[in-house]
Amino acid sequence: MHCPFCRHSDSRVIDSRTSDDGLSIRRRRQCPECGGRFTTVETSSLSVVKRSGVVEPFSREKVIAGVRKACQGRPVTDADLAVLAQDVEEAIRQTGASQLDANEIGLAILGPLRELDEVAYLRFASVYQAFDSLEDFEGAIAQLRTDHPRGGTDDGGDAR
Ligand SMILES: [Zn+2]
Repeated sequence: MHCPFCRHSDSRVIDSRTSDDGLSIRRRRQCPECGGRFTTVETSSLSVVKRSGVVEPFSREKVIAGVRKACQGRPVTDADLAVLAQDVEEAIRQTGASQLDANEIGLAILGPLRELDEVAYLRFASVYQAFDSLEDFEGAIAQLRTDHPRGGTDDGGDAR
């Protein structure tokens, strides 16, 4: 990345943030030669390797479609799903990976979905992690209880 002021061939990234739509990354850069600061916008492509081996572009719509089934009958809105898909994409982009397999997408979905709705999370996890016994459900539920004990959630951790 050449400095636009002195054409020095190197620059240092001093800040970077993902755009609201998650499609690009803005980087503040500083030239080590003249100290000039400039901004670059990079769009990074993210692709997913499906179980069949087919590679396709990452799609928030596909994330939403996959999660929507697990959310049937739950108090989850389209807006909630849109936010979830954005969170998933940002989490994936922050890893710096440009290609993921379907399993990694599923893993990235589990965290935000759990925050959104625990029942939907259990449904999604049961399919994604191929639960095949009551013990698998019991284990996942026990984990939820450990992390989110009922009552007594006032630990002040979310105080603003
Ligand atoms: Zn410069």
